[in-house]
Amino acid sequence: MDLSRRVLGTSTAVPVLGGGTRRFANFDHAASTPPFAAVLRAVGEFSAWYANVHRGTGFKSRLSSWAYDEARRTVLRFVGADPDRALAVFTRNTTEAINHVAQRLAFAPGSVVITTEMEHHSNELPWRRVARVVRVPVDAHGAVDDDALRRALRDHHGRVALVAVCGASNVTGMVNPVHRWARWAHEAGARILVDAAQLVPHRPVDVRAPDDPEHLDFLAFSAHKMYAPFGTGVLVAPREPFLVGEPRLVGGGTVDVVDPERVVYTALPDREEAGTPCIVGAVALAAAMREYQDIGWPAIIQHEDALTRQAYAGLTAIPGVRVFGPAPGAGERLGVIAFNVGSMSHALVAAILSDEWGIGTRSGCFCAQLYVKALLGIDEPAALAFEERLLGGDRSDLPGAVRASIGLDNTEDDVRRLVEAVRAIAGGRYRDGYALDAAHGEYVHAAACADYGAWFQA
Ligand code: PMP
Repeated sequence: MDLSRRVLGTSTAVPVLGGGTRRFANFDHAASTPPFAAVLRAVGEFSAWYANVHRGTGFKSRLSSWAYDEARRTVLRFVGADPDRALAVFTRNTTEAINHVAQRLAFAPGSVVITTEMEHHSNELPWRRVARVVRVPVDAHGAVDDDALRRALRDHHGRVALVAVCGASNVTGMVNPVHRWARWAHEAGARILVDAAQLVPHRPVDVRAPDDPEHLDFLAFSAHKMYAPFGTGVLVAPREPFLVGEPRLVGGGTVDVVDPERVVYTALPDREEAGTPCIVGAVALAAAMREYQDIGWPAIIQHEDALTRQAYAGLTAIPGVRVFGPAPGAGERLGVIAFNVGSMSHALVAAILSDEWGIGTRSGCFCAQLYVKALLGIDEPAALAFEERLLGGDRSDLPGAVRASIGLDNTEDDVRRLVEAVRAIAGGRYRDGYALDAAHGEYVHAAACADYGAWFQA
């Protein structure tokens, strides 16, 4: 099935060194995806009906309110939650959804949040503000150590409020056994939060009924990684913790009664969504979810898995290239492929891929410094030395990797180009003239096009 036609921008040409253009090969889906054509259509159609929700009596406002509510129901059904019992809060993104839980849940003094060394900073830093963070280490392959997780639950028994883990890594693509961990968390009297920013776009997720010992309590994800980049994220949660205490943000839309002395907050979910929400973003996400259903999970998984195998086999066959994460088939993994080319700077490799080959990747630590340091085997003194240099304004030669991440718009041709390009780079076949911008840790070629205004009127 040619899925690339469903995604916008797949024929966009970008400038390359030496003059001329190439069709852009997008390998940055783990960061963000372009929109589905169906999503943009839905946004266009909805625009004619757009009005604010809940507070207007015009037909457009009523229709917009209905569409927003329908989007919430679609989102809950998409992850197996009961729309009449579970809570979905629309946020800006995964980061805000996780912060929402951190700030909204009442963490008793001495509470422990168990996370892992694999986490994105968005599922690490919010917990540091509200609880004691106990971090489960990863093993030499970058997998979370199951025994260490069980030990942490035992060691802190009675104090663990939450186990906060990613559903899949944004560095190695590893998929975690979150339902098994949910059972262990529940047995220890804790709840589980799954940062599903990478998982929900690539695998069917079912939070399961609350009386299932393996159910997921909290789920956070972002529409911009699901071909609906219009400013919306989601928190799926049980209702009870939000029935007590004050909303995280207060203001319009959160209240029933305001007098000079008294505030009575309104019902869920409105009390958790202060101010005008991103209505278009919610409608766009629901349209994206309908598109996922129309394509079907078997076709999505088959497409991404085939390209992941092709890329993994191609990259690992290149002398000097080190790919992180499990081989496809040796453990469930997504098409998120982090790699390094010998001792070459990851930033230089990413720059060459872009400037000479028209390939979009990402390089660095991917907002997961603890995990990348563990994968690279960087010990504490070495890490401290890097940190000192960075804080002194020198970002040259920071540890990291290049990340190629696969999406529905990728083709076998894209992967062939990626592998051919990395082979050329590993063989030293690339242009002279890349200069390091030490303050930003980026390589820039003197002749690379930076006249973005010539391509798009911002
Ligand atoms: N968690 C993971 C695993 C991610 O990959 C990302 C996005 N890179 C985030 C959290 C944060 O997502 P957002 O930027 O949409 O808040």
